[in-house]
Amino acid sequence: MKRAPRRGDTDKTRLGPAGAQPVSTLPGVGPKVAEKLAARGLETLQDLWLHLPLRYEDRTRIEAIATLRPGQPAQVLARVEAVERSFRYRPMLRVAIGDDSHGTLVLRFFHFGKAQVAQFLPGRRILCYGDVRPGQHGLEMVHPSYRLLADEADANPRDSLDPVYPAIEGLGPLSVARLVGEALKRLPEAAELELLPAGMRERLDLPTLREALLTAHRPPPDADLALFAAGRHPAQRRLALEELLAHHLSLRRQRIALRAHGAMPVRPPGKLARALRQRLAFQLTGAQQRVLDEVSKDMARPEPMLRLVQGDVGSGKTVVAALAAANAVEAGRQVALMAPTELLAEQHLGNFRAWLEPLGLRVAWLAGKVTGKARAAALGEIASGRAQVVVGTHALMQESVVFAALALAIVDEQHRFGVHQRLALRDKGLSGSQVPHQLVMTATPIPRTLAMSAYADLDVSVIDQMPPGRTPVTTVAVSGERRAEVVERIRAACAEGRQAYWVCTLIEDSEEVEAQAAQSTFEQLGAALPELRLGLLHGRMKPAEKQAVMARFKAGDLHLLVATTVIEVGVDVPNASLMLIENAERLGLAQLHQLRGRVGRGAAASSCVLMYKPPLSALARERLEVMRSSTDGFLIAEKDLELRGPGELLGTRQTGLASFRVAELVRDADLLPEVHRAAEELLATAPDLAGRVVARWVGGAARFAGA
Ligand code: ADP
Ligand code: MG
Repeated sequence: MKRAPRRGDTDKTRLGPAGAQPVSTLPGVGPKVAEKLAARGLETLQDLWLHLPLRYEDRTRIEAIATLRPGQPAQVLARVEAVERSFRYRPMLRVAIGDDSHGTLVLRFFHFGKAQVAQFLPGRRILCYGDVRPGQHGLEMVHPSYRLLADEADANPRDSLDPVYPAIEGLGPLSVARLVGEALKRLPEAAELELLPAGMRERLDLPTLREALLTAHRPPPDADLALFAAGRHPAQRRLALEELLAHHLSLRRQRIALRAHGAMPVRPPGKLARALRQRLAFQLTGAQQRVLDEVSKDMARPEPMLRLVQGDVGSGKTVVAALAAANAVEAGRQVALMAPTELLAEQHLGNFRAWLEPLGLRVAWLAGKVTGKARAAALGEIASGRAQVVVGTHALMQESVVFAALALAIVDEQHRFGVHQRLALRDKGLSGSQVPHQLVMTATPIPRTLAMSAYADLDVSVIDQMPPGRTPVTTVAVSGERRAEVVERIRAACAEGRQAYWVCTLIEDSEEVEAQAAQSTFEQLGAALPELRLGLLHGRMKPAEKQAVMARFKAGDLHLLVATTVIEVGVDVPNASLMLIENAERLGLAQLHQLRGRVGRGAAASSCVLMYKPPLSALARERLEVMRSSTDGFLIAEKDLELRGPGELLGTRQTGLASFRVAELVRDADLLPEVHRAAEELLATAPDLAGRVVARWVGGAARFAGA
């Protein structure tokens, strides 16, 4: 699904008032049709205008049968020569047609009715369109679209290419085309529609919005279809540009609105942070120090910090967050740290308690499983300010959570939270017009081209250096046929005192199925490796069970942990130095990279075995090769983007980036510099226009602009 329905827009947010009219104002759209359209998110005329064709059919020309070439679609005007029905294996109707070029073409049908057969009388004129393929006796078309013509009737070739729209359940392709055509009749004049400054269109040599829409729906006969198929026709580029601009503007405006609030400047002498650094068993890396400086500088200002810290798995983001937290606490304020899973949140809790409690700080814990008295106690400590630091999951955003003086909201693994959730946590710290500083951490490296779009509302810091003493992970790809060998390897590694992960993955998006697979792998491996102690970890287990298993693995009490991808983020067991990932060919590179980051955390040489099911496609082979040859998260992200597209990389929930109607980030990435430039220009010179662009494309989501 490319787009989500957008509701709640007011008239002027659409492409003019006409754009906001419901589809039911079109002839032939009753409640039933309207319902089918609505199921695809098509509720207004504008939705239909932006429902672009997938491809086009050229019925503008009539070709001579004698000149047809197989492998290409064509339209011919001919006469029926012979009709044959057979039922040998399955019903089949063959109609031979011929034209003035003395060529013969066979039309073949596998589904047909009596009335249809009766139409094909030898000598009748027929206009038909379809893909030409080689057949048993010369060329043929299978299930062409056709029209029988009276002798004197004009064939009337079309004067523009025919659009073929994405299917809508319950509506035939012709009805969809007709409805879009009706909607296009109501498209307002160019001047009314246009929002982009003329200078910008000229610079890029792009048509007006009206022209772009009309061309995209009905290209002229001489249109370059290859350009259209690649999504690079100026008409498509024009639409993509405006859409990208709208999304970018929406994030920029959100940032501006956020910055308009004040924030509590945090500039303590830094005693607490110094004490914490003295307690650490290591020195900060240069990159950690630089990022910490950037964060501290932001926090010292009276506007809220909006900073994203990107750093590969294991680069040491947590301690940077802890030092920032120490500063906020020393300034007499509170800090909240939110993580997307309980497992990850618990790990942060462990670290923060170990680091901060010896300094006399109180760290509270709040997750879904904290209930009853414990919950009431935590809420009390948060509200009174007795707990200076609160670590938790989504539970932190619940209404009952009230902070005494929240000055720093830290969100880990940003890509699992949407912008909305980040704002919800921010709102916990609203006091008067002041909002807390925000620090967002992510281990998903985003290619530079996309980072500016994905995080247009944030400043970005990168920890681009690993703590010293890590030995890089060696990665190999192994066919599933060699499973027995791999099991032996695990036996040998564990005999040497190493610990290992066995990661079970499935393509189905079902925790249940995945859990079952992990369970049976756990049993098989247990039988094959009776001398080892195995643990099982999957998403269907109770948090307490998960925690117990993790604790045993961390303590070295378990040799092998059989797990689903729930271990993806945050698991930190330095002694684990071997990881096997099943069905590795099905996972995205970013996810593989995350998983692999669980090993190579200690001094021991680590390895990762990517087990695949043969045969491998060329693409899958290339992807595994990327993993084998690189451990650089940024490089892997660039490759992932190249090979799979941004939806995979960013996750659909993240920023709405994957829910464009027209634009495709990778394909249109070269427009981004212009998009950024245009956004700054519009915000500076024509903020009202900027607002209208956002409202038109982003619609409901624009309400965050006022945040
Ligand atoms: P991530 O960036 O993936 O969240 P963590 O913050 O979990 O990484 O850090 C990974 C491990 O590296 C932790 O065990 C942490 O204590 C350790 N670590 C962090 N910074 C350094 C450093 N400068 N030197 C050595 N070890 C470090
Ligand atoms: Mg982390």
